[in-house]
Formats: sequence, structure tokens, C-alpha cells
Amino acid sequence: MARNIQSLCISADTKIIDALEKLQETGIGILVLTNKHGQLQRTVTDGDLRRMMLTGRSLSDTLEGLDTTDPVYEEEAIDVNRALAAMDLHQVDHLPLVNTNGVPTDVLLRREIDKKLLLSTPHLGDQEMKFVSEAFRSNWIAPLGPNVDAFEQELAAHVNIGHAAALCSGTAALHLALNILGVAPGDTVFCSSLTFIASAAPVLYQRATPVLIDSDPATWNMSPVALAKALESAKQSGQLPKAVVVVNLYGQSADIDEIQLLCDPYGIPVIEDAAESLGATYKGKSSGTLGRMGFYSFNGNKIITTSGGGMLVSDDETLIKKARFLSTQAKDDVPWYEHSELGYNYRMSNVLAGIGRGQLRVLEDRVASRRAVFERYQQELKSYRAISWMPEADYGRSTRWLSVGLISPDHRLSAKEIIASLSNEGIEARHVWKPMHMQPIFASYARFPHFEDTFFADTAFANGICLPSGSNMTADQQMRVVRVLQSLLSDH
Ligand SMILES: *Cc1c(COP(=O)(O)O)cnc(C)c1O
Repeated sequence: MARNIQSLCISADTKIIDALEKLQETGIGILVLTNKHGQLQRTVTDGDLRRMMLTGRSLSDTLEGLDTTDPVYEEEAIDVNRALAAMDLHQVDHLPLVNTNGVPTDVLLRREIDKKLLLSTPHLGDQEMKFVSEAFRSNWIAPLGPNVDAFEQELAAHVNIGHAAALCSGTAALHLALNILGVAPGDTVFCSSLTFIASAAPVLYQRATPVLIDSDPATWNMSPVALAKALESAKQSGQLPKAVVVVNLYGQSADIDEIQLLCDPYGIPVIEDAAESLGATYKGKSSGTLGRMGFYSFNGNKIITTSGGGMLVSDDETLIKKARFLSTQAKDDVPWYEHSELGYNYRMSNVLAGIGRGQLRVLEDRVASRRAVFERYQQELKSYRAISWMPEADYGRSTRWLSVGLISPDHRLSAKEIIASLSNEGIEARHVWKPMHMQPIFASYARFPHFEDTFFADTAFANGICLPSGSNMTADQQMRVVRVLQSLLSDH
């Protein structure tokens, strides 16, 4: 229940002074008048009490005589959209709910329910404006400037890596990484299949061929079993991949040591897609720093954001210098505009880098909040067998960028139905990523499953659900999600 409804209930023999005191205590601006059977008679507001006083009643009189003829209320099963419509119809901001016996069970407040609860929204700290203002003050609005250099250095120091290039998106970072490794038409690149399209699309930008690798149910990340099968097949066909792009899904690092153990004998470089895992660790090291190159994203929904942006990182300075060069149109080092190579306009702007510098300072807080959100879901829903959670591997700390679970296939509602019901309550939940091997655009490319001939990624997509996980979601807001989930996850 949203609130202790008893604390809002009064009866006709309550004195006006006591009603006023109760209004003061409960602080939501409304009381519920009930009869001797505990049934709803009407709501009582400050205004109702004031009007009684103006007609000559005194503070010690009771509420006897208040008109109870046309009370506004709804059945407790009402969903948020219908409740809002009812409030509009009656021009009220409070709506009491009653059970089948007419006994009040809750009061909905417009200010609490009319805000849609989103999956993951930007959460600014208090220093971003300082760096952005500096950029404006010093007239460094041109693409390059001190914030870009400082953001690169500060991020590299934070994750403990040698070098970083600030770019306009995570997608651009991966595109440059593949370009720098020389990925070209005719090459293959192995990619995690259970991910967002941006982890694989840049392979097609380079006109190379993606090969899609399933996930391990223990980590939801690239399955070493599936990878071994793919490498064996590549060896037999005489064409090893030019690179392996490994995703750290929903903030959890892949088991990178196992993957490197398979790739190292062939000298195949590993690129870590750490778009969702900035702040995560793997065996004590920062997620994203373990491959030949790694990249982060600062898109609006990520753990920290610059509204849009990305960072390519590596311990190899030549790779990062090349990325900076390619990201600024590959301009040769002469006094005029001369180009011997094809470049891109992929650099991060100095203003956005200012936001990033502020955000980096609250990264650890954001990780702690996301993890607390996940723990609250787990705690509040622990008695519901219908949901199981994405596991956290014991080799490191996940950021729990999103709180993700699997709905049991024998539950009375499917993941899809639960997502739709949450949406009717003004709560945004999403499906787990639809795997790349199920995407029409990747239909013709080879794929390798974790199991004999079935994919774990298929199960994750069919039954998976991502819940609102923002670091700025309040405990009250999250409990709203929890209460709806409790009714959807119950066995009847
Ligand atoms: C967000 C994301 C990207 C792309 O990052 P952008 O900055 O949005 O281009 C790549 N991979 C994964 C797994 C992501 O979640």
C-alpha cells in the first residue's frame, strides 16, 4: 500500500480541530471520511473545513452534517491512466480508492502518478555547469579546447589506462577502433550477439562481415564455449577474424581472461564495448581497459552522460593518437588543409566535455545508486518465483546500469505482457536487447550458439525485462514500480 490509509481516516464525530491537526500531520492535503462500517463517505480537504467555519461552526464542533451525497472515488484495481482520466473528469488532484466493500484502501495523488517513470534518465551533479560556463567564458566553444583534453586525462586516470580520445559517440569510437585495426571488406569480425546494434553496426560501416557469438547464461556475456566453436570453424575455413568485439552487458564485464586465452594464440585483438560498464570492475581492474582498445558511451541513458559522446581508450598511445587524427578529418600536419587519408568528424565538443568532467566526479555515486536500485528490487521481490535476476559474476563488480530479470516461462504473464501492463501504469520497462542474430539486417551472417544448437540470447530476449533503473529515481518512485510488479508477478 502506498501510505497508511488509517492515518487519513476520520468519522462524522471527529472535531474540526482534530481534523485540521490530522491534515497538518499527514501533509497530503486530504482526509477520508468513513462511516461506522469503515466505508468511504467522502473526502475532506482544508477548503471543506474552512467553509464549515465560515457558516458559523466552531473548532470544537464535529463534522456532522457534511454533504456525503456524491462522493468521488474509484475501485482499487484502476490503472494509472484511468485514474488520471477520472481526476480530470472530476477536476480533482486526489482520488480515493475503495475495495469491493467500499472500504478505502489508498488515495492517489496526481503529483505522484502523472509523471511517467522512465528506464534511465540523465542525472546531473553540481559541477557540470562550472565546466560548461568556463567553456563559454573563455570563448572555447570551437570544437577543441581545454575541457576535451582534461576530460580525456581525467577519465584515463579514473579507469587507470594510458590514453583516451574523446569522441562524439560510443558508436564512433568503435568505428574508429575497427578502422585503426585495418578492418576492411572481406574481413570478418566476431561480435557479441546479445547487445545493442551499435556494438555490431560499425563492422558493416567498414564493409566487413560480422560473425555473431552467443552469451553464457552465467554472465550474459560472450560465451567462451561459443567463441571456441567460432574460432575452430574460422581456423578450418582459413579465415581468422580481424578483431573480436566483446560487450560488457548491462554493466557487467565479460569474462575477458577466458576470451583472451582463446584469442591470444592467434594474435586476434579484443575490443571491449564498455558503453554500459563504465565504473564496473573485472578482477580489480576497470571494465573497458582490458582489451587492445575499449570504449565508453556518454549517451543520455548511460550511467554518466554528456548528452551524447564516447571515449576510446587504450594503453597504446599510437592507437589513440590515430583515433584523434581520424576523428578530426585526418588533416595532415602542414599549414594548409591537406588530406592523404579518409577521416571523420567524430571529435567531442569542448562544451560537452565540460559536462563529462562534472559527471565523472559523481560516477562512483551513480554506480552505488544503480546498485542500490537493483538490490531494492531483489529484496522487495525475493518471494516471487516468477522473476529471476541477471547474475553478478564473482570476478568483479557490475554497475547494474539496468536492473534486468527473466520472467519464468511458466508464469501466467509473459515478459511482453508485463512490460505492457507496466506501461499502462506509467512505468517504462523494456525488453532485453533483441540479439543481433535475430535481426533482419544481420540475417545472412554466421552465428554460434552457447548450447549445442540453441542460443541463450534467445531465452534472454523472450523472457527478459529491464526495469526503471535511474540513479535519480527516489525510493518512493521505485516502490510504485515494486507494488505494480508484485501484483503482476503473483501467481493469480
Ligand atoms: C549505448 C551503447 C553503444 C553506443 O553508444 P552511443 O554513444 O550511443 O553511440 C554501444 N554499445 C552498447 C552496448 C551500448 O549500450
